[in-house]
Amino acid sequence: MPGNMSVPVTIPSPLPGATAGELLDLIRSGRATTRGELGRVTGLSRTAVSARLASLASAGLVLEGDEESVTGGRPASTLVLNRDAGLVLAVAIGRSRSQMSVSALDGTELASVSHDQEVGLGPDVLMPVVADHLTRMLADLGRSGEEVRGVGLSLAGTVDPARVVSVDSPAMAGWDGVPLGAYLRDVTGAPLVLDNDCNVMAASERDGHLRDHDDMLVLKASTGLGLGIVAGGHLIRGHRGAAGELGHVKVAAAEGLLCRCGDTGCLETVAGGWALVERLRAGGQQVHHVRDLVAQAVHGNGEARSIVRESGRRVGEALAATVTVLNPRAIVVGGDMAGAFDTFSAGLRDTLFPATTALAGRDLQVLPATHGEKAGLVGCVHLALDSVLSPLAVNAALVKQHV
Ligand SMILES: [Zn+2]
Repeated sequence: MPGNMSVPVTIPSPLPGATAGELLDLIRSGRATTRGELGRVTGLSRTAVSARLASLASAGLVLEGDEESVTGGRPASTLVLNRDAGLVLAVAIGRSRSQMSVSALDGTELASVSHDQEVGLGPDVLMPVVADHLTRMLADLGRSGEEVRGVGLSLAGTVDPARVVSVDSPAMAGWDGVPLGAYLRDVTGAPLVLDNDCNVMAASERDGHLRDHDDMLVLKASTGLGLGIVAGGHLIRGHRGAAGELGHVKVAAAEGLLCRCGDTGCLETVAGGWALVERLRAGGQQVHHVRDLVAQAVHGNGEARSIVRESGRRVGEALAATVTVLNPRAIVVGGDMAGAFDTFSAGLRDTLFPATTALAGRDLQVLPATHGEKAGLVGCVHLALDSVLSPLAVNAALVKQHV
Protein backbone atom coordinates (compact mmCIF):
# COMPACT_ATOMS: atom_id res chain seq x y z
CA MET A 1 0.00 0.00 0.00
CA PRO A 2 1.38 3.39 -0.92
CA GLY A 3 0.63 4.74 2.56
CA ASN A 4 3.02 2.21 4.06
CA MET A 5 5.91 2.93 1.77
CA SER A 6 8.94 3.97 3.75
CA VAL A 7 10.79 6.96 2.42
CA PRO A 8 14.56 6.76 2.76
CA VAL A 9 15.79 9.65 4.86
CA THR A 10 19.34 10.82 4.34
CA ILE A 11 20.77 11.72 7.70
CA PRO A 12 24.47 11.26 8.30
CA SER A 13 24.66 7.91 10.05
CA PRO A 14 27.70 6.58 11.92
CA LEU A 15 29.70 3.90 10.15
CA PRO A 16 30.06 1.46 13.03
CA GLY A 17 33.24 -0.54 12.69
CA ALA A 18 34.40 1.59 9.75
CA THR A 19 37.53 0.16 8.14
CA ALA A 20 40.73 1.93 7.13
CA GLY A 21 39.50 1.82 3.54
CA GLU A 22 36.29 3.60 4.52
CA LEU A 23 38.28 6.26 6.38
CA LEU A 24 40.37 6.88 3.28
CA ASP A 25 37.15 7.19 1.28
CA LEU A 26 35.89 9.87 3.70
CA ILE A 27 39.20 11.75 3.48
CA ARG A 28 39.39 11.47 -0.29
CA SER A 29 35.86 12.77 -0.81
CA GLY A 30 36.41 15.61 1.66
CA ARG A 31 33.56 14.45 3.91
CA ALA A 32 35.93 14.13 6.89
CA THR A 33 39.46 15.52 6.84
CA THR A 34 40.55 15.66 10.49
CA ARG A 35 40.84 12.99 13.18
CA GLY A 36 37.95 14.62 15.04
CA GLU A 37 35.69 14.62 11.99
CA LEU A 38 36.51 10.99 11.23
CA GLY A 39 35.55 10.09 14.79
CA ARG A 40 32.27 11.98 14.56
CA VAL A 41 31.29 10.59 11.15
CA THR A 42 32.20 6.97 11.90
CA GLY A 43 31.45 6.76 15.62
CA LEU A 44 34.91 5.20 16.09
CA SER A 45 36.96 5.99 19.22
CA ARG A 46 40.10 8.16 18.98
CA THR A 47 42.22 5.08 19.44
CA ALA A 48 40.42 3.20 16.67
CA VAL A 49 40.74 6.17 14.29
CA SER A 50 44.46 6.46 15.10
CA ALA A 51 45.09 2.76 14.48
CA ARG A 52 43.43 2.90 11.06
CA LEU A 53 45.22 6.12 10.10
CA ALA A 54 48.55 4.58 11.15
CA SER A 55 47.85 1.69 8.83
CA LEU A 56 46.99 4.04 5.94
CA ALA A 57 50.05 6.19 6.67
CA SER A 58 52.40 3.22 6.70
CA ALA A 59 51.06 2.30 3.26
CA GLY A 60 51.88 5.86 2.19
CA LEU A 61 48.25 6.62 1.33
CA VAL A 62 47.52 9.45 3.78
CA LEU A 63 49.44 12.59 4.72
CA GLU A 64 48.74 14.63 7.82
CA GLY A 65 49.72 18.03 9.15
CA ASP A 66 53.28 19.15 8.47
CA GLU A 67 53.99 16.37 5.99
CA GLU A 68 51.39 17.96 3.88
CA SER A 69 52.97 21.36 3.55
CA VAL A 70 54.86 19.74 0.68
CA THR A 71 51.67 19.21 -1.32
CA GLY A 72 49.45 22.12 -0.39
CA GLY A 73 48.89 24.95 2.02
CA ARG A 74 46.23 23.49 4.26
CA PRO A 75 46.31 23.89 8.03
CA ALA A 76 48.17 21.32 10.09
CA SER A 77 46.15 18.33 11.28
CA THR A 78 44.25 18.17 8.00
CA LEU A 79 44.37 14.73 6.42
CA VAL A 80 44.74 14.25 2.69
CA LEU A 81 45.17 11.41 0.27
CA ASN A 82 48.83 11.23 -0.76
CA ARG A 83 48.51 11.88 -4.48
CA ASP A 84 52.04 10.58 -5.05
CA ALA A 85 51.35 7.12 -3.60
CA GLY A 86 50.84 5.71 -7.06
CA LEU A 87 49.59 6.36 -10.58
CA VAL A 88 46.57 5.52 -12.68
CA LEU A 89 46.47 5.15 -16.45
CA ALA A 90 43.49 6.15 -18.59
CA VAL A 91 42.71 4.93 -22.11
CA ALA A 92 39.69 6.31 -24.01
CA ILE A 93 39.36 4.41 -27.28
CA GLY A 94 37.18 5.94 -29.96
CA ARG A 95 36.51 4.89 -33.51
CA SER A 96 39.06 7.19 -35.08
CA ARG A 97 40.96 8.60 -32.09
CA SER A 98 42.36 7.19 -28.89
CA GLN A 99 43.46 9.26 -25.93
CA MET A 100 45.75 8.10 -23.14
CA SER A 101 46.94 9.68 -19.91
CA VAL A 102 48.95 9.15 -16.74
CA SER A 103 47.53 10.69 -13.55
CA ALA A 104 48.35 11.01 -9.87
CA LEU A 105 46.10 9.40 -7.26
CA ASP A 106 44.12 12.63 -6.78
CA GLY A 107 43.27 12.59 -10.49
CA THR A 108 45.76 15.30 -11.52
CA GLU A 109 46.88 14.63 -15.07
CA LEU A 110 50.66 14.29 -15.40
CA ALA A 111 50.86 13.48 -19.12
CA SER A 112 48.47 12.76 -21.98
CA VAL A 113 48.54 11.96 -25.66
CA SER A 114 45.98 11.79 -28.45
CA HIS A 115 46.42 9.27 -31.28
CA ASP A 116 44.46 9.48 -34.55
CA GLN A 117 43.91 6.07 -36.09
CA GLU A 118 42.38 4.53 -39.13
CA VAL A 119 38.70 3.69 -38.59
CA GLY A 120 37.97 0.01 -38.06
CA LEU A 121 41.26 -1.16 -36.53
CA GLY A 122 40.95 -4.30 -34.42
CA PRO A 123 42.47 -4.73 -30.97
CA ASP A 124 45.47 -6.71 -32.31
CA VAL A 125 46.57 -3.62 -34.23
CA LEU A 126 45.47 -0.80 -31.95
CA MET A 127 46.15 -2.10 -28.45
CA PRO A 128 49.94 -2.54 -28.97
CA VAL A 129 50.02 1.11 -30.11
CA VAL A 130 48.14 2.10 -26.95
CA ALA A 131 50.61 0.08 -24.86
CA ASP A 132 53.55 1.84 -26.58
CA HIS A 133 52.13 5.28 -25.84
CA LEU A 134 51.57 4.39 -22.18
CA THR A 135 55.08 2.96 -21.82
CA ARG A 136 56.59 6.06 -23.41
CA MET A 137 54.64 8.47 -21.22
CA LEU A 138 55.70 6.62 -18.07
CA ALA A 139 59.33 6.66 -19.22
CA ASP A 140 59.18 10.40 -20.03
CA LEU A 141 57.85 11.04 -16.52
CA GLY A 142 60.62 8.89 -15.06
CA ARG A 143 58.01 6.59 -13.54
CA SER A 144 57.58 2.84 -13.74
CA GLY A 145 54.69 0.51 -14.49
CA GLU A 146 55.06 -0.87 -10.97
CA GLU A 147 53.77 2.42 -9.57
CA VAL A 148 50.53 2.04 -11.53
CA ARG A 149 47.63 0.98 -9.32
CA GLY A 150 44.98 0.67 -12.01
CA VAL A 151 43.98 1.35 -15.60
CA GLY A 152 40.61 2.80 -16.66
CA LEU A 153 39.63 2.03 -20.25
CA SER A 154 36.55 3.05 -22.24
CA LEU A 155 35.08 1.71 -25.46
CA ALA A 156 31.98 2.61 -27.46
CA GLY A 157 29.04 0.24 -27.17
CA THR A 158 27.93 -2.18 -24.48
CA VAL A 159 30.61 -3.65 -22.25
CA ASP A 160 30.69 -6.25 -19.49
CA PRO A 161 32.72 -4.59 -16.71
CA ALA A 162 32.92 -7.86 -14.74
CA ARG A 163 34.53 -9.83 -17.60
CA VAL A 164 36.36 -6.70 -18.83
CA VAL A 165 35.22 -7.27 -22.41
CA SER A 166 33.09 -5.44 -24.94
CA VAL A 167 29.91 -7.43 -25.61
CA ASP A 168 28.20 -5.45 -28.34
CA SER A 169 29.91 -2.62 -30.11
CA PRO A 170 28.65 -2.00 -33.65
CA ALA A 171 31.11 0.90 -33.84
CA MET A 172 34.15 -1.25 -33.04
CA ALA A 173 34.20 -4.33 -35.26
CA GLY A 174 36.37 -7.15 -33.94
CA TRP A 175 36.51 -5.98 -30.31
CA ASP A 176 33.58 -7.94 -28.86
CA GLY A 177 34.65 -10.62 -26.40
CA VAL A 178 38.37 -9.82 -26.67
CA PRO A 179 40.10 -9.69 -23.25
CA LEU A 180 41.97 -6.38 -23.33
CA GLY A 181 44.08 -6.73 -20.19
CA ALA A 182 46.51 -9.06 -21.95
CA TYR A 183 47.65 -6.27 -24.29
CA LEU A 184 48.79 -4.12 -21.36
CA ARG A 185 50.71 -6.79 -19.42
CA ASP A 186 54.07 -5.38 -20.51
CA VAL A 187 53.05 -1.91 -19.31
CA THR A 188 51.70 -2.81 -15.87
CA GLY A 189 50.36 -5.69 -13.88
CA ALA A 190 47.71 -3.41 -12.33
CA PRO A 191 44.03 -4.27 -12.78
CA LEU A 192 42.14 -3.01 -15.83
CA VAL A 193 38.68 -1.49 -15.34
CA LEU A 194 36.40 -1.17 -18.36
CA ASP A 195 33.26 0.84 -19.07
CA ASN A 196 31.58 2.33 -22.08
CA ASP A 197 32.32 5.80 -23.39
CA CYS A 198 29.02 7.36 -22.27
CA ASN A 199 29.18 6.01 -18.72
CA VAL A 200 32.74 7.26 -18.47
CA MET A 201 31.65 10.68 -19.69
CA ALA A 202 28.97 10.70 -16.98
CA ALA A 203 31.68 9.84 -14.43
CA SER A 204 33.73 12.83 -15.64
CA GLU A 205 30.91 15.18 -14.65
CA ARG A 206 31.38 14.15 -11.02
CA ASP A 207 34.58 16.15 -11.21
CA GLY A 208 33.02 19.36 -12.47
CA HIS A 209 30.46 21.98 -11.58
CA LEU A 210 27.73 19.32 -11.91
CA ARG A 211 29.10 17.19 -9.08
CA ASP A 212 25.91 17.74 -7.07
CA HIS A 213 23.58 16.79 -9.93
CA ASP A 214 22.04 13.47 -8.92
CA ASP A 215 19.85 13.33 -12.01
CA MET A 216 21.30 14.01 -15.43
CA LEU A 217 21.59 12.64 -18.91
CA VAL A 218 25.06 12.80 -20.42
CA LEU A 219 24.78 12.69 -24.20
CA LYS A 220 27.73 11.68 -26.30
CA ALA A 221 27.04 13.01 -29.77
CA SER A 222 29.93 12.06 -32.03
CA THR A 223 30.27 9.44 -34.73
CA GLY A 224 27.54 7.59 -32.83
CA LEU A 225 24.98 8.67 -30.24
CA GLY A 226 24.77 7.37 -26.68
CA LEU A 227 23.61 8.32 -23.21
CA GLY A 228 25.11 8.04 -19.76
CA ILE A 229 22.15 8.00 -17.38
CA VAL A 230 22.50 9.24 -13.81
CA ALA A 231 19.30 8.87 -11.75
CA GLY A 232 19.03 9.35 -8.02
CA GLY A 233 22.82 9.66 -7.85
CA HIS A 234 23.38 6.28 -9.49
CA LEU A 235 24.65 5.38 -12.92
CA ILE A 236 21.94 3.34 -14.64
CA ARG A 237 23.37 0.46 -16.68
CA GLY A 238 20.24 -1.61 -17.14
CA HIS A 239 19.73 -5.35 -16.73
CA ARG A 240 22.25 -6.34 -19.43
CA GLY A 241 24.37 -3.22 -19.35
CA ALA A 242 22.71 -2.07 -22.54
CA ALA A 243 21.00 1.07 -21.15
CA GLY A 244 21.63 4.36 -22.91
CA GLU A 245 21.85 3.12 -26.52
CA LEU A 246 20.04 6.24 -27.73
CA GLY A 247 21.45 6.00 -31.24
CA HIS A 248 19.49 2.82 -31.86
CA VAL A 249 16.11 4.10 -30.71
CA LYS A 250 13.72 3.72 -33.62
CA VAL A 251 12.38 6.98 -35.04
CA ALA A 252 9.85 7.61 -37.80
CA ALA A 253 12.21 9.82 -39.82
CA ALA A 254 14.66 6.91 -40.16
CA GLU A 255 12.15 4.36 -41.39
CA GLY A 256 13.79 1.92 -43.79
CA LEU A 257 17.30 3.40 -43.39
CA LEU A 258 20.03 0.83 -42.66
CA CYS A 259 22.01 1.40 -39.48
CA ARG A 260 25.55 0.20 -38.76
CA CYS A 261 24.05 -2.08 -36.07
CA GLY A 262 22.40 -4.09 -38.85
CA ASP A 263 18.89 -2.93 -38.05
CA THR A 264 16.84 -0.25 -39.79
CA GLY A 265 15.09 2.87 -38.54
CA CYS A 266 17.64 3.89 -35.88
CA LEU A 267 18.10 7.51 -34.78
CA GLU A 268 21.79 7.36 -35.77
CA THR A 269 20.88 7.00 -39.44
CA VAL A 270 19.44 10.53 -39.42
CA ALA A 271 21.41 12.20 -36.59
CA GLY A 272 24.64 10.30 -35.93
CA GLY A 273 27.96 11.73 -37.13
CA TRP A 274 28.75 8.74 -39.37
CA ALA A 275 25.43 9.10 -41.22
CA LEU A 276 25.81 12.86 -41.66
CA VAL A 277 29.32 12.40 -43.05
CA GLU A 278 28.10 9.67 -45.44
CA ARG A 279 25.34 11.95 -46.68
CA LEU A 280 27.72 14.86 -47.30
CA ARG A 281 30.22 12.64 -49.10
CA ALA A 282 27.46 11.21 -51.28
CA GLY A 283 26.77 14.84 -52.21
CA GLY A 284 30.41 15.20 -53.34
CA GLN A 285 31.79 17.05 -50.31
CA GLN A 286 35.26 16.45 -48.87
CA VAL A 287 34.27 15.44 -45.35
CA HIS A 288 36.07 12.60 -43.61
CA HIS A 289 34.88 12.85 -40.05
CA VAL A 290 32.11 14.50 -38.06
CA ARG A 291 34.84 16.80 -36.66
CA ASP A 292 35.21 18.26 -40.20
CA LEU A 293 31.49 19.00 -40.29
CA VAL A 294 31.60 20.59 -36.83
CA ALA A 295 34.61 22.72 -37.82
CA GLN A 296 32.73 23.98 -40.89
CA ALA A 297 29.70 24.81 -38.75
CA VAL A 298 31.85 26.73 -36.28
CA HIS A 299 33.43 28.70 -39.12
CA GLY A 300 30.03 29.85 -40.30
CA ASN A 301 29.28 27.44 -43.15
CA GLY A 302 25.48 27.73 -43.37
CA GLU A 303 24.84 24.24 -44.69
CA ALA A 304 27.04 22.64 -42.04
CA ARG A 305 25.27 24.61 -39.33
CA SER A 306 21.85 23.55 -40.50
CA ILE A 307 22.96 19.89 -40.60
CA VAL A 308 24.31 20.10 -37.02
CA ARG A 309 21.15 21.87 -35.87
CA GLU A 310 18.98 19.27 -37.57
CA SER A 311 20.92 16.51 -35.80
CA GLY A 312 20.18 18.30 -32.52
CA ARG A 313 16.48 18.47 -33.42
CA ARG A 314 16.33 14.73 -34.14
CA VAL A 315 18.11 13.93 -30.88
CA GLY A 316 15.76 16.26 -28.98
CA GLU A 317 12.72 14.43 -30.35
CA ALA A 318 14.15 11.08 -29.34
CA LEU A 319 15.19 12.31 -25.88
CA ALA A 320 11.84 13.85 -24.96
CA ALA A 321 10.33 10.61 -23.67
CA THR A 322 13.41 9.86 -21.55
CA VAL A 323 13.34 13.37 -20.08
CA THR A 324 9.63 13.09 -19.30
CA VAL A 325 10.12 9.72 -17.62
CA LEU A 326 13.30 10.49 -15.66
CA ASN A 327 13.01 14.25 -15.01
CA PRO A 328 16.76 15.00 -15.10
CA ARG A 329 18.14 18.31 -13.88
CA ALA A 330 20.53 18.63 -16.81
CA ILE A 331 21.33 17.27 -20.23
CA VAL A 332 25.07 17.43 -20.76
CA VAL A 333 26.28 17.42 -24.35
CA GLY A 334 29.70 15.92 -25.03
CA GLY A 335 31.45 14.33 -27.99
CA ASP A 336 32.45 15.99 -31.26
CA MET A 337 29.07 17.71 -31.73
CA ALA A 338 29.73 19.66 -28.54
CA GLY A 339 32.35 21.54 -30.58
CA ALA A 340 29.34 23.32 -32.13
CA PHE A 341 27.40 23.30 -28.86
CA ASP A 342 25.34 26.45 -29.48
CA THR A 343 24.07 25.20 -32.84
CA PHE A 344 23.49 21.59 -31.77
CA SER A 345 21.82 22.50 -28.47
CA ALA A 346 19.59 25.08 -30.17
CA GLY A 347 18.19 22.28 -32.35
CA LEU A 348 17.87 19.99 -29.36
CA ARG A 349 15.94 22.59 -27.38
CA ASP A 350 13.62 23.29 -30.34
CA THR A 351 12.16 19.81 -30.27
CA LEU A 352 12.82 18.65 -26.72
CA PHE A 353 11.08 21.27 -24.63
CA PRO A 354 7.71 21.30 -26.44
CA ALA A 355 7.56 17.50 -26.16
CA THR A 356 8.23 17.10 -22.42
CA THR A 357 5.86 17.79 -19.57
CA ALA A 358 6.00 21.36 -18.25
CA LEU A 359 7.41 20.24 -14.92
CA ALA A 360 10.13 18.02 -16.42
CA GLY A 361 11.23 20.93 -18.60
CA ARG A 362 10.95 23.69 -16.00
CA ASP A 363 14.47 23.68 -14.51
CA LEU A 364 16.09 21.52 -17.18
CA GLN A 365 19.50 22.80 -18.23
CA VAL A 366 21.25 21.91 -21.47
CA LEU A 367 25.00 22.26 -20.89
CA PRO A 368 28.28 21.46 -22.62
CA ALA A 369 30.44 18.71 -21.06
CA THR A 370 32.64 20.18 -18.31
CA HIS A 371 35.87 18.66 -19.60
CA GLY A 372 35.25 19.08 -23.33
CA GLU A 373 37.51 16.86 -25.43
CA LYS A 374 39.12 15.52 -22.27
CA ALA A 375 35.83 14.16 -20.85
CA GLY A 376 36.59 10.56 -21.82
CA LEU A 377 40.03 10.63 -20.25
CA VAL A 378 38.85 12.35 -17.07
CA GLY A 379 36.08 9.76 -16.79
CA CYS A 380 38.53 6.87 -17.26
CA VAL A 381 40.70 8.30 -14.49
CA HIS A 382 37.64 8.35 -12.20
CA LEU A 383 36.78 4.82 -13.22
CA ALA A 384 40.26 3.61 -12.28
CA LEU A 385 40.47 5.63 -9.03
CA ASP A 386 37.01 4.57 -7.82
CA SER A 387 38.07 0.99 -8.30
CA VAL A 388 41.60 0.99 -6.86
CA LEU A 389 40.76 3.37 -3.98
CA SER A 390 37.45 1.72 -3.08
CA PRO A 391 37.34 0.71 0.60
CA LEU A 392 37.42 -2.97 -0.39
CA ALA A 393 40.48 -2.57 -2.62
CA VAL A 394 42.32 -0.43 -0.05
CA ASN A 395 41.63 -2.89 2.78
CA ALA A 396 42.81 -5.78 0.61
CA ALA A 397 46.01 -3.88 -0.22
CA LEU A 398 46.63 -3.13 3.50
CA VAL A 399 46.19 -6.78 4.44
CA LYS A 400 48.61 -7.81 1.71
CA GLN A 401 51.14 -5.30 2.99
CA HIS A 402 51.07 -6.85 6.45
CA VAL A 403 51.34 -10.45 5.35
ZN1 LIG B 1 21.14 0.95 -35.04
